[in-house]
Amino acid sequence: MGAFSYRPDWLAEVTTPAYVVEEKRLVHNLEILRGLQERTGCYVLLAQKAFSMYSCYPLIGRYLKGAAASGLFEARLAYEEFPGENHVFNPAFQEKEFAELLKYCDHFVFNSMSQWKRFGARALAAGKECGLRINPEHSTQDHAIYDPCSPLSRLGARLSELDEDSLEGLSGFHFHTLCEQGAEPLAETLEAVEEKFGRFLPRLKWINFGGGHHITREGYNMPLLERCIRRMQDRYGLKVYLEPGEAIALDAGFLAATVLEVIEGPERELPVAVLDVSAACHMPDVLEMPYRPPLSDSGEAGERKHSYMLAGATCLAGDNIGVFSFDEPLKPGQKLLFGDMAIYTMVKNNTFNGMPLPDIVYVDAGGSWKTIRTFGYDDFKQRL
Ligand SMILES: *Cc1c(COP(=O)(O)O)cnc(C)c1O
Repeated sequence: MGAFSYRPDWLAEVTTPAYVVEEKRLVHNLEILRGLQERTGCYVLLAQKAFSMYSCYPLIGRYLKGAAASGLFEARLAYEEFPGENHVFNPAFQEKEFAELLKYCDHFVFNSMSQWKRFGARALAAGKECGLRINPEHSTQDHAIYDPCSPLSRLGARLSELDEDSLEGLSGFHFHTLCEQGAEPLAETLEAVEEKFGRFLPRLKWINFGGGHHITREGYNMPLLERCIRRMQDRYGLKVYLEPGEAIALDAGFLAATVLEVIEGPERELPVAVLDVSAACHMPDVLEMPYRPPLSDSGEAGERKHSYMLAGATCLAGDNIGVFSFDEPLKPGQKLLFGDMAIYTMVKNNTFNGMPLPDIVYVDAGGSWKTIRTFGYDDFKQRL
C-alpha cells in the first residue's frame, strides 16, 4: 500500500487509538489464497505470528487448511479457535511444554537433529506428523534481522548436520527463508533446497515452504509460485504447505489515531504533531524494520503544503513515525488513518510508558463495525 486516500464512515465514529480490520479486505486476500489451494492442491496455513486476531479464525478457517504456531501459546490458541490442521515449530521445544503441545498439534517441526532425537519418538508415538526445519543457506534478502540464512542463524538444520541414520520417521521438511518477497526468490531458494537436500525428498510426504510470500500483493508472480508447487508435487510426490502470515491480512487493517497537539516554533525545522499512537508501542515494526507506514491523504515530506513530523505520545526521543505532508494544517482532535496495520501490530504491541493499548475493531462485510476488545489499566498493571 503506497499513497492512499480512504475516508470510511467508521473513522468518524470509532474512538482512537484503534486497530480496525475490514472483513472485505481480509476476504479479498483469503479468496486469492483459496484460489491457489484449489488450482494446485497445496495447503495454506495461517502463520499466527503475524496475525492472531482470533475472532477472525472461523472466517479464515473457511478458506485455509490450518494454522501454524511458533510455540505453546499460539498452538493453544489455534487449538481453541481455529478449525483445521495445527502445525507447530519452535527453535527449541521444552520438556515442560511438550506433553501439552501433543494435545494441541498434529504437525511438529523440529529445528535441529538434537531436537528431533530428543522429542521425535514421543511425537511419533502420539501419531503426529514430524518434520525437520532445514536451512538451505541461501540468502535472498538484505534484512539481516529477518534472514534465517544469516551466518550465525539458529534456524534450521544445515546439510552438514543431517545424520542420515536418524531420519527414519520424519515425513516432512520445512524451510522458511523469505520476508515480504515475491516468487522469484522462492524459486531460487527451492533450487538451493533441491541441490542440497534433493536426495532426501523422495522419502518424504510433505514439504513446507514457510512464510514470507507476499502472495496477495499486487504484481505477485502467481504462475511462478504455482510452478514451484507443482515441481515438488510432480518430481517428488510431495504435499506442499505454505504458511504465510503477512499475505493473509496484508492491507486488511488500519490504525486510527488522533492528533493530540501540534508544536510549532520559529526555530524549528518542522512542526511536530503528537498523536495518541506510538511507533514504539503500537507499530513497532516502523522502528524495527524500519519502514514508513502508509497514511491516508498525506504525501512525502514537502510534497503537500504542510509538513509535520508525526510522533508518539511517549518519552522515547526516537518515537517518530515519520515526516508526512498534508493539504491543510493539522489540528488537535483531527483523526488520521494509518494503512496496513493488521499484521505484526496487535501481536507485537506493548504498554511501554504506560501507553494504553488500542481497541480492536472489526468492520463486517456490510460495513457495520463493532469493538471486539478494549484494554485498560489492568492490561498494563497485570504484567508487572
Ligand atoms: C514468521 C514466520 C512465518 C510467517 O512469515 P510472514 O513473513 O508473516 O509471511 C511463517 N513461518 C515461520 C517459521 C515464521 O517464522
